[in-house]
Amino acid sequence: MSEGGPFRRLLTYMRPHRGTVRLASFCSVVNKIWDLAPPLLIGLAVDVVVLKEESTLAGLGLVDPWHQLVALSMLTFAIWGFESLFEYFYGVLWRNLAQTVQHELRLDTFDHVQQQGMAWFDDRQKGDILAILNDDINQLERFLDKGANDLLQVSTTVLVVGAVFLAISWQVALFAVLPIPIIVWGSFRYQRSLEPRYAKVRTAAGQMNALLENDLSGMSTVQSFTAEQHELERVRTLSDAYREANREAIRLSAAFTPLIRMAILVGFTATLLLGGWLTLEGGMAVGAYSVLVFMTQRLLWPLTRLGETFDLYQRAMASSTRVLDVLDAPVELQQGAFEPDAFAVSSSPIVLDDVSFGYAGRNALFDGFTLTFEAGKTTGVVGSTGAGKTSLIRLLLRFAEPTGGRVLWCDEPLEAWRLRALRSSIALVDQHITLFPTSILENIRYGRPDASDEDVVRAAEIAEAAAFVESLPSGWNTLVGEGGHRLSGGQRQRVAIARAVLKDAPLLVLDEATSAVDNETEAALQRSIGRISKGRTTIVIAHRLSTVRHADRIVVLDQGKVVEDGTHESLVKKDGVYAKLWSVQTGEAGNR
Ligand code: ATP
Ligand code: MG
Repeated sequence: MSEGGPFRRLLTYMRPHRGTVRLASFCSVVNKIWDLAPPLLIGLAVDVVVLKEESTLAGLGLVDPWHQLVALSMLTFAIWGFESLFEYFYGVLWRNLAQTVQHELRLDTFDHVQQQGMAWFDDRQKGDILAILNDDINQLERFLDKGANDLLQVSTTVLVVGAVFLAISWQVALFAVLPIPIIVWGSFRYQRSLEPRYAKVRTAAGQMNALLENDLSGMSTVQSFTAEQHELERVRTLSDAYREANREAIRLSAAFTPLIRMAILVGFTATLLLGGWLTLEGGMAVGAYSVLVFMTQRLLWPLTRLGETFDLYQRAMASSTRVLDVLDAPVELQQGAFEPDAFAVSSSPIVLDDVSFGYAGRNALFDGFTLTFEAGKTTGVVGSTGAGKTSLIRLLLRFAEPTGGRVLWCDEPLEAWRLRALRSSIALVDQHITLFPTSILENIRYGRPDASDEDVVRAAEIAEAAAFVESLPSGWNTLVGEGGHRLSGGQRQRVAIARAVLKDAPLLVLDEATSAVDNETEAALQRSIGRISKGRTTIVIAHRLSTVRHADRIVVLDQGKVVEDGTHESLVKKDGVYAKLWSVQTGEAGNR
């Protein structure tokens, strides 16, 4: 979090747009030069009315004072016209540049977020990541579209005005310029102390966002527990913290401009007095005196803007630091280059060899776990809740990494695979089904974007989803809502299975969400599994044993260990855990 760090990184995003930066800077400087001309015009005008035929302009050949005034007016028109034109140019250029940099930074950051392993997401709150991708990146806009321009214009002012002053009277110039170093130094010091305060503001904003995101996505839970008041209090606490963090920053930041103004006052009064005295003594022309006084105005007041600029800078840096923290988080998942052909993948078993794994801060889940999923066969995985069934699948997808041992597929450890090749070889029906807020058709097509509508319908038929979809008023174009909330749990599962079927991957994994399905759904599920699994390596995690009774092999897991293993018949005969569960479940079924 070094001072120059985030800023320098931001500059790298500007680098490809060097041409635009140059052009925009040019426009800013030119605009400022035109903007500084009016005091000169005023000086010349005073010069004309006081000295008439002896004025500076007369020296250029325009003898008649009236002609001089007309010429001055025309010049004024031209100058103001140019000033406005260049203001428009720099406005367009800087603001669009800010948008572009923001856009590119957002894409880079999101791209980086998408490459992170699941452990990274486990450590963070979605709302906070959202705040970084949205708010924090948007904070940059104000600094980028104003800050650079302000700095350039203040510098231009100091240079131009300094030169004019030197030309008129170096003694007065000295007094006018004297406060500048003090102001600049003070600004730096002052704004530095704002830095930690703005960092706090951004952290508070992130926390509040995370809570809001949680509340909104869990609104039905909030309402069913009538916890609205409780949630309101939680939001109030965080919103208060955000306001308080801002207050602390404001307290310091608001005092800044008034303080600078006092410093300016000293310089301005000095010019007024000293210049006036020189003019009274006859050492300086009246016109020159007015130029001096107006110019001092022009020179010193913009310096109050410096405070604002540094303020924007500090805010932008507080946000950048958060963005860069994400961008700098190493992508922990290392991948190899192994990309086997489709046939090799579908004819190769998946071997978990002496695998150890545990979630951070938890007891080890697997310890020397060994299991082989035969190619082309269906393996049922059953076991009590928390036994490690889903975690097993996460190891196959590399959502989790073994701490010991290896997972082999095509005789290569998964780390040797190109991640894309690995994951596109697996079609997963997750335990927590995620659908996207588009149509059913598009949701199913998600697994293979180039699939035709006919392919989608065929996949849905295999998954036994077609019938229910066609009975909906909008059919295939039915919008499923965020997370699929406009469908029933069972319907969501059908759509997710259709999506996996369409993906047509060598390994199909079905992590069944619940045992609470009706007999008809259960039968439909069994039929689709039967159809999909033909000649394909299939893993079915089921809560109802009847779902997997026809599997080639059933593995019973308990606390990260295989406790039984065999066909349905052999396991029933064995009279162990499975047989007990079976009798309980069929007993239940018999009572219906
Ligand atoms: P269920 O039948 O309820 O789906 P499961 O067999 O799929 O259970 P897993 O999800 O694999 O169980 O969980 C195994 C253990 O790991 C549980 O004790 C769980 O609390 C823990 N666990 C799961 N996911 C995480 C995670 N992201 N971080 C930490 N612990 C986790
Ligand atoms: Mg599970």
